[in-house]
Amino acid sequence: MSTVLIIGAGGVGSVVAHKCAQVDTVFSRIILASRTKEKCDAIARDVKKRWGRSVETFALDADNVAETVALIREVTPNLVLNVALPYQDLAIMDACLETQVDYLDTANYEPIDEAKFEYKWQWAYQDRFRDTNIMALLGSGFDPGVTNVFCAWAQKHHFDEIHQLDIIDCNAGDHGQAFATNFNPEINIREITQRGRYWERGEWVETDPLSWSMSYDFPEGIGPKKCYLMYHEELESLVQNIKGIKRARFWMTFSDQYLTHLKVLENVGMTRIDPVEYQGQKIVPIQFLKAVLPEPSSLGPLTKGRTCIGCLMKGVKDGREKTLYVYNICSHEAAYEEVGSQAISYTTGVPAMIGAKMMLEGKWHEKGVWNMEQFDPDHFMDDLNQYGLPWKAVEL
Ligand code: NDP
Repeated sequence: MSTVLIIGAGGVGSVVAHKCAQVDTVFSRIILASRTKEKCDAIARDVKKRWGRSVETFALDADNVAETVALIREVTPNLVLNVALPYQDLAIMDACLETQVDYLDTANYEPIDEAKFEYKWQWAYQDRFRDTNIMALLGSGFDPGVTNVFCAWAQKHHFDEIHQLDIIDCNAGDHGQAFATNFNPEINIREITQRGRYWERGEWVETDPLSWSMSYDFPEGIGPKKCYLMYHEELESLVQNIKGIKRARFWMTFSDQYLTHLKVLENVGMTRIDPVEYQGQKIVPIQFLKAVLPEPSSLGPLTKGRTCIGCLMKGVKDGREKTLYVYNICSHEAAYEEVGSQAISYTTGVPAMIGAKMMLEGKWHEKGVWNMEQFDPDHFMDDLNQYGLPWKAVEL
């Protein structure tokens, strides 16, 4: 029986609150805090309506460590589950250190003035978390998150060594909007417009943004889609933790319409992350763009179709070459029906709840700072099947 403090009341925070409410044997008390308290209250009302559970709500600026420390002292959680933005990661980790409470997030820290995707800032907390006797679990969403666990599971049960890894993220859904992002637009566009990067024979190789593509034939009727090579944060820990890895890449599908809009926005300077002078004040173009784009949480009722995210792995087992594809397919409509959100928020929020459950049940509990593939994957894989993200593994 545990108290969880969820920070962030956006698309993902909403799913996390609903999923924690479904598991009352573990999450006996749920607290939701975010910058805008009204968003927490709206989620709390919906959780009450669907699951009959109460969620306590608070306004919190998580950039302010003292404010977060005060809230943690007031509500005394067993775990802080951070689904605010990557900018808040370090401040929330500092608050957890000060109050000796375990920490979990779904995205690596990013400095606001530089779109950089690296674990170095959070890995630097290793000694302090270990010495304070608390745990941080990093990247417990889908990708990063489930993709790391798929790799750990394949390594444990199917391979002596995995030599090639392709993580392939397909959103085959459609929301009918000319241009909208499925999670926070600012974070999403910063990620997509950066240079591509993949791991090959012991070093990182860079590519121009979205300059490499392939067609992949997705299973269960989704069919062939064009996928673009990008850098994604889980590659950094996986190349360290997966035995024998020689090449690791990450791919994501985008429609031509999405890419055309993105190119125009980039060309006119709307994706810039540095402040510009506008009528006597400084504005950051990408933050203004976020304000005029549809809120990802508003896409729930509009989005139809499915996502398919998986890991394609080639390696050896007992001297034999082997190719394994482990994947989940998630329906936007089914996610909306269950928790009122589209599948992108759903596929992130469910593993965040499961990661927290693993920690609170003591199945994954080790002091220090950890990535997902460093723990035994079996319980997590079982829970994916039980809590809404069933997976399949097929040998190709
Ligand atoms: P949203 O923008 O929908 O929600 C973010 C929430 O955080 C908002 O409620 C926002 O408040 C709140 N917030 C922002 N700044 C602060 C602050 N200083 N203090 C308190 N609350 C704050 O984003 P998503 O829900 O789509 O994404 C949440 C996280 O999940 C992100 O870090 C994202 O990168 C990650 N993610 C991970 C994925 C994975 O697979 N691993 C996939 C998708 C997302 P307000 O409403 O007032 O702005």
